[in-house]
Amino acid sequence: MTLRSPPLPVQSVSLQRLRLDALVPFQRRRVDGRWLLTTDFGDHAFVEDDELTRVLEGRVTPDEELHVRLAERHFWIDGLDRDLLTERVRRKQRFLAFGPNLHILVVTLRCNHTCQYCHASRARMDAVETDMSIEIAERSVDFAFETTSPSLTIEFQGGEPLVNWPVVEHVIEYARQKNAIAGKSLMFALVTNLSLMDEEKLAWLLDRQVQICTSLDGPAFLHDGVRVWKEGASHETAVRWIRRINEAYGQRGLDPTLYRVEALPTVTRLSLPHAKALIDEYVAVGCRGIFLRHLDPFGFASVARERLGYDMDAFLAFYREAFEAVVDLNRQGVDFVERTAAVFLGKILGHDEPNFLDIRSPCGAGIGQVAYNHDGRLFTCDEGRMVDRKGDATFQIGVVGQDRYRDVVSGAVVRAMSLASTLEGQPGCATCAYKPWCGVCPVHNYGEQGSLHGRMADSTWCKKHMGIMDFLMTRIRRADPFERELFQRWASPREQPHYVQPRGPF
Ligand code: SF4
Ligand code: SF4
Repeated sequence: MTLRSPPLPVQSVSLQRLRLDALVPFQRRRVDGRWLLTTDFGDHAFVEDDELTRVLEGRVTPDEELHVRLAERHFWIDGLDRDLLTERVRRKQRFLAFGPNLHILVVTLRCNHTCQYCHASRARMDAVETDMSIEIAERSVDFAFETTSPSLTIEFQGGEPLVNWPVVEHVIEYARQKNAIAGKSLMFALVTNLSLMDEEKLAWLLDRQVQICTSLDGPAFLHDGVRVWKEGASHETAVRWIRRINEAYGQRGLDPTLYRVEALPTVTRLSLPHAKALIDEYVAVGCRGIFLRHLDPFGFASVARERLGYDMDAFLAFYREAFEAVVDLNRQGVDFVERTAAVFLGKILGHDEPNFLDIRSPCGAGIGQVAYNHDGRLFTCDEGRMVDRKGDATFQIGVVGQDRYRDVVSGAVVRAMSLASTLEGQPGCATCAYKPWCGVCPVHNYGEQGSLHGRMADSTWCKKHMGIMDFLMTRIRRADPFERELFQRWASPREQPHYVQPRGPF
């Protein structure tokens, strides 16, 4: 994969012959032996070398197929459907008017697992001082409800949140009561390793329509190799509860094609040779999708990085293999989605903004999400909080009970993060063909390159996104009818209204 596009094949096009005034602004990139052209409105088209030359020289006549192809994609200024494109831009950027909708409560750092990749973000089981108190929990919920966003998701993270179960229960009841007046579209998500789940807790959570998410790193030999639980069998327990919870959804009459435990893998070096086994495991336990993510550098012990880390080329090869395994499964009638692809396809084919906070411009730091540490300190996002665990409070944006919502979300750190993650202001991104669909991460830039803005030319984040989008654009261009239908389906995710809390008093 080349990181940058080679020069245009237009040695024969002198500046005097360039006729760009007939076209909307566009960027180009060499993909799959052709030129991928993209506009700032998010349309794309593939053209051959000679076609690009004729486009640039203004030698395409309206009766040509090339003219029609580019007209359908809104490349020509003449005849541009301005109303449609204005509405599209308005819809895609509507998140700018919302405010933080994701509120991550770290209710404890304690965890009974000692997973090899998160030494820096968990605490021992006797570290009770890392439990969030009821008082800080209430102040956190009060702060979250100040958001201008009409929807509000409270996500419980840790450590292992079930270790501090009384605070989880209290937050849910307290937030539901507040929402009787606030009337927001309120949801709860619990991210748990499931080791402390029991039937009583499960019934309580299901009664309150809490979404349950967990970690599953693959078959037992992979999962238990990194997710170490000295007192128990991590894989066996997680799989047993995933199946039990999915069964309970069915018993409560929920659509089994829509409501399942959401599981997430952490891809380590040990996973790389086992892409297909990982996907098969997800299907076997009843999952309907997988989110293939590169191992984050945040909160990651250097010793573990030596053992579990890998370079981006290795990840991209793994990603491509896993993606093909997922497509093959769908051909066999198994409805299963790769969610990173779905985020990009929603933008590329659906012309929508799925509001995935790490792949949007600007990113969600402080304006789309807030992370609440157990001690009441606020961070731009969970990743920013993890940097703090290493003793660097760069991404702290306030303290609950002390700082006003308005000051926090418009403070210097949040503004710096928004500027650093706005692609038009990023050298490299501003002229990249993938700008309409991409996003950058200032925390990643800071961790990898020492600055919020970073340098995309040698950023692994950029390399990952470019590699994935090169691959997806190639797959879109070559797609057969089955794949075209599949990719369109992935581009239009279904809502899950059951997780929205009923409004009104309880
Ligand atoms: S800084 Fe990075 S992790 Fe934080 S919200 Fe932005 S993209 Fe996501
Ligand atoms: S981060 Fe995304 S938009 Fe920026 S240069 Fe890389 S691929 Fe292009």
